[in-house]
Amino acid sequence: MRLQLAGTGASPGHALGRARIRQPHILEVDKERISAAGVPEELQRLHRALRAAREEMRDLRKRLQGALAEEAGEFIELHALLLDDPELLHNLDSLIREEHYSADYALRVQRDRLATVFGRMEDDYLKSRLDDLDHIIGRIHAHLHEREATLLGAAGDILIGDAIAPSELAQLQAQGVIAVVTATGSALSHSAILARSLHLPLIIGATHALQKINDGDVLIVDAETGHVILNPSAEDLRGHRARLKQSARERRELERLRGKPSRTLDGADITLYANAESNEDVIRAHALGATGIGLYRTEFLFLGQDRLPDEEEQFRVYRNIVLSMDGRPVTIRTLDLGSDKGHEGLTPRDEDNPALGLRGIRLSLAHPAHFDVQLRAIARASAYGRVRILIPMISRREELLSVRRRLRKVSEQLRAEGHQVAESIPLGTMIEVPAVAIAVQSLMDVVDFLSIGTNDLVQYLLAADRCNEALDDLYSPLHPGVLQLLNHVIETSAHNGKPVAICGEIAGDPWLTRMLLALGLTEFSLHPNSLLEVRRIIRNSDLGLLRAASPKLLQARDRAGIQRWLAATGQA
Ligand code: PEP
Ligand code: MG
Repeated sequence: MRLQLAGTGASPGHALGRARIRQPHILEVDKERISAAGVPEELQRLHRALRAAREEMRDLRKRLQGALAEEAGEFIELHALLLDDPELLHNLDSLIREEHYSADYALRVQRDRLATVFGRMEDDYLKSRLDDLDHIIGRIHAHLHEREATLLGAAGDILIGDAIAPSELAQLQAQGVIAVVTATGSALSHSAILARSLHLPLIIGATHALQKINDGDVLIVDAETGHVILNPSAEDLRGHRARLKQSARERRELERLRGKPSRTLDGADITLYANAESNEDVIRAHALGATGIGLYRTEFLFLGQDRLPDEEEQFRVYRNIVLSMDGRPVTIRTLDLGSDKGHEGLTPRDEDNPALGLRGIRLSLAHPAHFDVQLRAIARASAYGRVRILIPMISRREELLSVRRRLRKVSEQLRAEGHQVAESIPLGTMIEVPAVAIAVQSLMDVVDFLSIGTNDLVQYLLAADRCNEALDDLYSPLHPGVLQLLNHVIETSAHNGKPVAICGEIAGDPWLTRMLLALGLTEFSLHPNSLLEVRRIIRNSDLGLLRAASPKLLQARDRAGIQRWLAATGQA
């Protein structure tokens, strides 16, 4: 039966493919009752799933060979025992028979009951068996919906899961996965940023996806509108083809702006840098005529592997980017791990508030040996082009002074070892911490340039987690406090003759381009995917008129007022 599910498009694009379900670790099932007449059928459904899960365990046991067989065999045995546990089975049956719960909900209730018992156990080993219980319950639930056991994606698959980690995305795409739909998530998460970078359509917040979609179902994903269509009709398929054609047409139109200047109607040249996470982004940025790379996020080199890339490996990556940009500036941001970009080896595991914890430059300065390796690799790459270094999560002047000292020291060491290093490497700061944005004047003598990270600045300013979908409505740059602070940072930088860019996602949102121009911004750093669209808006804007309209923008008292300003400047 055709069904349309709604979520939020977090990385644009369209896809037509096959669903591949990835089981959530914890079962999220709504309370659901069945009719008395439906009980025998529901019991049959449950027992079919139990048989299939047992069969799966037997198969798995047979397929294991060698040393692994012994080790993993123990767990499988345990799982098989759990599957035959009379306590588990009897209670499931009676929840369906007596309470008239659906098999899915009965599983959930029974899981929660047993989890409470496991949780109370003194013994850590027994406590940790909760994972096994969750795994088994997850498998039974998968079989209730006739889903396959494998978690890997294949060509043409659309992955459906509860959440997705940044480290998984590239791997999935390499396996041929063409889109991802998650039940939770936020458009500002690093997974969403990476998905945009990979051109992988991503829909988040499709809350019922896991309950409604089965493995192998045919789906249309429209990540522009945030819709997922299950079992599309002939009409839907026609619509999908039309949309593909339409976006190809729009792309062709935009492509005409490739080599054109980003100049306003009244002749002001605006700098469009690109944000990049991969060499593909860099090549695309060059082809589109980006002024340079305004933000290269080095943490993506580190994510998805336990080991840390050594100096030589990092140097080769950085040099490659510098060479790809062929003399245009390349801004390499030092590691910004921590918060939602956890790393097995480097980031602490037990922080209560990782977004307020050891992340960005704090983490780098806590591991000076690793930090020096990165600074050495960047400094060596500086011999091949125009490199700038950008420091994330700066919260005080002392941190910048300390980075300056380290950079000077490693550059001297490298020269003494016979390496080439550029005569001077401009050092910039990210503006992400509100206190630093307010007191930006106090940094002017220690920085060469600034880049405002609005993704984090907005989260810290509004006390709203950028990854918490429940706060999607609150988390927005369209707040008078955000605009006033942006204006303050931009004006103070201009006053001191220091270049300032915005590199948060708002820089690539064409709907906000005129608002940022009005605030005095002349440097944008944005994902290459939005570069041409933003260039089109710039070419159709009059900077003088927008600047004259900025007092009105800054007087807006709420989001509605800012939106009215946006609509009045022709962006409705
Ligand atoms: C930002 O915070 O706006 C930013 C560009 O950094 P990231 O998104 O990598 O945290
Ligand atoms: Mg940030």
